[in-house]
Amino acid sequence: MPELPEVETMVRGIRPALEGERIVAATLSHIDILRGVTRPKLLAALTGARIERVFRRAKHGVLQLAIKSPTKRTTETRYFILQPGMTGNLLIYDRPLSPAEAKYAVLRARLGRGGEFVFRDVRRIGALRLLTQSGWEQYDRALGPEPLDPGLTPARFADALRHSRAAIKKVLMDQRKLVGVGNIYANEALFSAGIDPSKPASRVSADAYVRLYHETRRILQAAIDAEGTTFRDYRTSTGEPGNFQLELNVYEREGERCRQCGTRLAGTHDIDARITVFCWRCQR
Ligand SMILES: [Zn+2]
Repeated sequence: MPELPEVETMVRGIRPALEGERIVAATLSHIDILRGVTRPKLLAALTGARIERVFRRAKHGVLQLAIKSPTKRTTETRYFILQPGMTGNLLIYDRPLSPAEAKYAVLRARLGRGGEFVFRDVRRIGALRLLTQSGWEQYDRALGPEPLDPGLTPARFADALRHSRAAIKKVLMDQRKLVGVGNIYANEALFSAGIDPSKPASRVSADAYVRLYHETRRILQAAIDAEGTTFRDYRTSTGEPGNFQLELNVYEREGERCRQCGTRLAGTHDIDARITVFCWRCQR
């Protein structure tokens, strides 16, 4: 599943082609990825909309749109939220799509300058939402802080996580507490910080939280610099697989040797439904 670095990479890829651009026509192949909006409403809002801003919040891409109100002559703001889910990609095409590319193009938006913005989703586990200003504010408030926000201090980071008795790994992945971290980066950050992933968040020491704060930010930033870890279905905005520059220490390395101490890495599904890989010697 794309986590913060992968979505950030996608958003950075599409931003230059979209900001300030107008959508002249839009089509949607399936409605099963719509949440709280109908196809006619979404397409009516997109058609003619000006894309004011393209950004990321949590693991979602957001297009801030200026749309002409059909009744009044005023301009209204809408937030078009694209949640890539497991297999979703945000893509820009400056040429006609091949039949293979068009096959999984769920949303297609033709741009005023030519070219197309495409939300491609092979398995359609992703989601599309259209929110008003107040709807957006509510949505934003329900999410935790951004781990790479320059204003997020170690103290605020620890405060967001430590009030739960659930396993620290689960809490780190809880988007209401802190956004952007999924299974891959939770495994990696806990290993690098030397924290047992099954330890209750309320029992993680203050020192360990400081380490976790720095390691989480360092790893997410390194993954962004590497343009996202490569997933089976992950593509950058130009359809390229991500680089393999970021070396993962534990994720998908169950049974292999710990790079720090040589112990065989353990794997468990007991903490959550996902695989947790850890070194019982380095993570106490
Ligand atoms: Zn180790």
